[in-house]
Amino acid sequence: MIVYFKNTATHAQIAELQLHLKQLGLDSQLVPGQNICLVNKLKDEKLLANFPFISYTQNIHTSFQLSSNAFKSETNFQVNGIQFGTNFANIIAGPCSVESEKQIFETAAFLAKNNIKFIRGGAYKPRTSPYSFRGLGKDGLKLLSEAAKTYQLGVVTELMDLSLLDEVMQYTDIVQIGSRNMANFYMLGELGKINTPILLKRGMQANVTEFLLAADYILSGGNEKIILCERGIRSFDPMSRNIMDVGVIPLIQSLSHLPIMADPSHGTGDSRFVSALAKASMVAGANGLMIEIHPDPKTALSDANQTLNFEEFEHLLSELALLSPAIKKPIDATYSFVV
Ligand code: PEP
Ligand code: MN
Repeated sequence: MIVYFKNTATHAQIAELQLHLKQLGLDSQLVPGQNICLVNKLKDEKLLANFPFISYTQNIHTSFQLSSNAFKSETNFQVNGIQFGTNFANIIAGPCSVESEKQIFETAAFLAKNNIKFIRGGAYKPRTSPYSFRGLGKDGLKLLSEAAKTYQLGVVTELMDLSLLDEVMQYTDIVQIGSRNMANFYMLGELGKINTPILLKRGMQANVTEFLLAADYILSGGNEKIILCERGIRSFDPMSRNIMDVGVIPLIQSLSHLPIMADPSHGTGDSRFVSALAKASMVAGANGLMIEIHPDPKTALSDANQTLNFEEFEHLLSELALLSPAIKKPIDATYSFVV
């Protein structure tokens, strides 16, 4: 249950309520920056009758609460002056990993030429094998942010571990939480305390409830700037890296106020299919795309197989522009537009 306080409610009154609930064996959690409190398992609001500083209560009948669209209808926010959210669609592109000055500056120049506003690139990479390229670390972050500054792009990069939070935040505009960390609940809780937007990728085994509960971890800490990202789920079939769950896009939009982007690069694992699934995702209503590109994909140090070259990416952009009237999204040169 969500308990909404009157603006006049004092800290002392709220503390008194929390104590009362505790005595009833009920856990309660205040949401920083919002005048509300979540009370677990409270079904009977009569128990709150003696607290006149409560404005009203709301029962949300799903386990996820703050990410539910019963709580809020839409989420929109600006990053570097660019709108993100349920009413927008944005394109983020760049290499899987930052590899060299040449690679990242060439990519940034190419994106700027195509009016893309955000560059991605991993500096700390989650790799299945410890013997694979694991990223350039802080040097990679510096290169990424220098390239982004030179071409006036926003930066998206992955945070692998909380110990790197301060370092990563110094260089990024959006913190990416990868599939492997979607269920790192302590980390998610800490991300709730910062104001930087979070791109939260779906765990490769996560169902929709688990995905939205992960978002609730961040929201309940007070950070409302979240973009979900579908990136494919594990399947029984070794023929494809993942199954790109396009259906989850409208499904999540029916349940949540959070924007959801699509990452068909990891979703398919195969550059031949990225474009088809990118278009399918936009038609399904995605709030944008995250695409892996590289000046010379076959030499990429990670995810070479699923990475588009510049020509392929430009072709995809031209196809998205053609699709735009059908999907009622004015996909124009700015790639930041009202739905
Ligand atoms: C990535 O974006 O490069 C990445 C590692 O993605 P995911 O966490 O979805 O596997
Ligand atoms: Mn990758």
